[in-house]
Amino acid sequence: MVEVLKGVHAIDFSEGGGMGMELWLLNCPEGTVLVDTGMRDYAIEKIETELKSIGKGWRDVEKILITHRHGDHVANLKRVQELTGAEVMSHKDEADAVAEKGVEVTSLEHGQILPYCGGIEVIHVPGHSDGNAGYYLPAVKAILAGDIIFADDEGKMEAPPERYCKDVDQARREINRFLDYDFDALLLTHGKDTMNGAKEKVRALCGK
Ligand SMILES: [Zn+2]
Repeated sequence: MVEVLKGVHAIDFSEGGGMGMELWLLNCPEGTVLVDTGMRDYAIEKIETELKSIGKGWRDVEKILITHRHGDHVANLKRVQELTGAEVMSHKDEADAVAEKGVEVTSLEHGQILPYCGGIEVIHVPGHSDGNAGYYLPAVKAILAGDIIFADDEGKMEAPPERYCKDVDQARREINRFLDYDFDALLLTHGKDTMNGAKEKVRALCGK
């Protein structure tokens, strides 16, 4: 079990090589939520193991929140949706692209608050993809940032690499949307998470 903050489980599905890859399982009092689904069987096995470690199974997952459409986040979506029966949600500008995985998708708006873990707030940060979203967890002062920010193995933050971005200038410019939130931890799909002082590091990254 890898509980990095109260109720927040970080699941490493990088299969031990190459670029780090992480998704999240939220063990909220109101229910269980998965953020992204990873790719390949390895990620499925890791999610199942994590669920078991908290005494849960696939059918306990009520919502699947998607950060964005890229394969390492949604390649397993159809299978995970079938295993869980959960409602799939993504930012509205990403919903059609995510639905191409063969699932129904509920659209989310920037600022919308989902009634889990004390309230999960949707933060739309376009650029890496059109409907890219981060998810703010005020109860633990953390943002699940997906690919909105990358980091190296030491946790040094950077904007997502240009080759992975639809509009890299927009992706760089819009990171400062995170500065509207009160957070200490920033959890990333790629690169080392920052568990304390993350807002100051994001501020520095934005040149503010
Ligand atoms: Zn991506």
